Amino acid sequence: MYRCTRCDDPVAPDADACPACGYNPGRTAMDAGAVCLAIGLPLLYAVTPAGVLCWFVALLAFGYGLLATPGERVA
Ligand SMILES: [Zn+2]
Repeated sequence: MYRCTRCDDPVAPDADACPACGYNPGRTAMDAGAVCLAIGLPLLYAVTPAGVLCWFVALLAFGYGLLATPGERVA
């Protein structure tokens, strides 16, 4: 049994978004990754280590976005 971590409604274990409230943590992480990419690009030129760090965070966010589901297993 899987339940949405936001609204507690039942949700499929492999669903991208909660059918009840639309919660989509993968999408949120992808958006955060896109923001990090956008911020990191000018930083790469201005402060290279900070830009690399920013892109690294973006990669982590994209990776999490691919794996994240709104459901959480409950007994
Ligand atoms: Zn929900």
